[in-house]
Amino acid sequence: MRAAVKLIIEPASLTALEIEDSGNSRLMRAALFSLLFNVVGSGCKCMGPTELEQLQSSIRDIKDFPKPGIAFKDITPLLGNGKLFRSVIDHLAAEAEKIRATKVVGIDARGFLFGAAVAYKLGIGCVPVRKKGKLPYKTIGFSYQLEYGDAEVEMHVDAIETGERVVLVDDLLATGGTSGAAVNLVQKIGGIVGAALFVIELTFLNGRAKLPPDVPVQSLVRY
Ligand code: AMP
Repeated sequence: MRAAVKLIIEPASLTALEIEDSGNSRLMRAALFSLLFNVVGSGCKCMGPTELEQLQSSIRDIKDFPKPGIAFKDITPLLGNGKLFRSVIDHLAAEAEKIRATKVVGIDARGFLFGAAVAYKLGIGCVPVRKKGKLPYKTIGFSYQLEYGDAEVEMHVDAIETGERVVLVDDLLATGGTSGAAVNLVQKIGGIVGAALFVIELTFLNGRAKLPPDVPVQSLVRY
């Protein structure tokens, strides 16, 4: 039987944390990790309601793009609004700082826009995870399943030091296949993913389930 434990802690240092205890000790470890590194496990509560509303209205749905049946979340109006873009970067950077990340891993392609800005703000390195065949040096790769067919992402073999703590950044978490693959690449070369940060999360696709339970996931806007 699955027992749900909900722990809400609201002082300045900790906000909210939801733990689903299915008897899996990894989940409990994830919870402890989150407490230790001051990470919100079920989304970022750090944006005020007005700002969140502004952010939401700067993301537009493009129906049937890139193919019929897909509602594409277009973030270009957000990118075009300097104040809002800066605020998003500030929030993501604050979360990355909390877990003491020394590198940002940005995911091809819109993840580069947010990831690079976060890295710049914190004065830490930036690592691209790219689609297969785009990186010039020696790579490691990870294949994963898409709704139709397969995809593969790659990272340079020397991008991350053994034991280095990184933060993953992408614009959107959908099925979790891409970010799950990126986590796998980081871990393959001995890195530690301290958190995975997204501007948008499509919660109905349950992408979080594709990420290891010891990787805290945060998103600013959830649908
Ligand atoms: P997934 O691997 O399914 O989590 O997909 C995540 C990646 O695909 C992200 O890098 C997104 O940029 C992109 N993506 C997936 N679905 C959408 C969507 N509905 N709107 C915009 N981008 C999307």
